[in-house]
Amino acid sequence: MKRLFALLLLFPCAAPGRCADGVIEDAPRIRVAISRSSPSLKLKTSAHIYVLEVHSGQKYLLLENSSYDVRAGGAGLLVGKQELSSPIKLLAADGAERIRLSGNLYKGDILIRATPERKLDIIEYLTVEEYLYGVLPDEMSADWPLEALKAQAVASRTYALKFIDPSHDYDVTNGVEMQVYNGTNKINSRIIEAVNSTRGEVLKYKGKLITAFFHACCGGHTASVNSAWGEDVIKPLYGVVDPFCKSSKHFQWEMYVSAQDLLKFAQSQGSTGLKLRSVSVYQKDRSGRPVSIKFTTDSGSINVKTSDIRKRFGSYEFRSTLITRISPVKGGYEFAGRGWGHGVGMCQDGAREMANRGRPYKRILRHYYPGAAILDYD
Ligand SMILES: [Zn+2]
Repeated sequence: MKRLFALLLLFPCAAPGRCADGVIEDAPRIRVAISRSSPSLKLKTSAHIYVLEVHSGQKYLLLENSSYDVRAGGAGLLVGKQELSSPIKLLAADGAERIRLSGNLYKGDILIRATPERKLDIIEYLTVEEYLYGVLPDEMSADWPLEALKAQAVASRTYALKFIDPSHDYDVTNGVEMQVYNGTNKINSRIIEAVNSTRGEVLKYKGKLITAFFHACCGGHTASVNSAWGEDVIKPLYGVVDPFCKSSKHFQWEMYVSAQDLLKFAQSQGSTGLKLRSVSVYQKDRSGRPVSIKFTTDSGSINVKTSDIRKRFGSYEFRSTLITRISPVKGGYEFAGRGWGHGVGMCQDGAREMANRGRPYKRILRHYYPGAAILDYD
């Protein structure tokens, strides 16, 4: 199909965040960086989509069921062959229409900005509730029990709202460093029910939103936020005994690391040794997680933070910092541990088990974030 633009000057828009054809919704809005510094973007329309030049307020209509290449160029941006000033917004003509970008469907309005390096930053504007429809299937799973999904909805909503900051270009990123979000491809009725039935509910402690961390499996005791990242600890993030994730497939793990790789790592941390003599747990926190590991070489010993070791050897293979055993084996060491993830906040496998045993979502949240109140966001 020939790529065409139909120019429709509709109205000037001075407030890009509130310019979705005049729709102002009451739910808090969030700006999600869905791509940063992309060389280009493939845009597919399934219905009428408007392109808004933010500074001029001019609107253009993109053809239905068409494909456009977007990249930095000319005076700002090129959409197909049309030159536009940066930034632009893509506006769905109504709530039922969607935009497909790089294979993912997005329901919100999309802001595209050319960076000084002539790359593209792409930011989606949507309500927090719509954002959660996309987060839940990726951060949990659409086929999990409803009460677990509802607990996840409240935790994810709280976590997201904590990062809303108008002084930045966007509020959250879309990767594992915050919450995984790839648009609304995987929405189903259970996800919608989990989000809608908890609409606006958040976790607060002493009147403030908590940073509602969560992870796959705690291995029997959740971690303190202080042990994990050195942050000031508050009661809801202090760590609790968790009897609910014992049957999780992530409850135990083992990993082999060669003595050579461990020695190289010790050297990168300041050891001058040339031969590794032993590796052992040095100090544990109250959850049983070793805070540091002792590397002894032919020239003395050094202690290294367990989180740094996990970072070096990979958080997929080195599943947690809850190391329960370090054994010398032929050519290296075997590490055994429990759980998967940083261990702070809600244990998702435990939440799933609690839901399977009939516990309602509020009880799940009170177990993993003790002392936090479940309140309406305002
Ligand atoms: Zn657990």
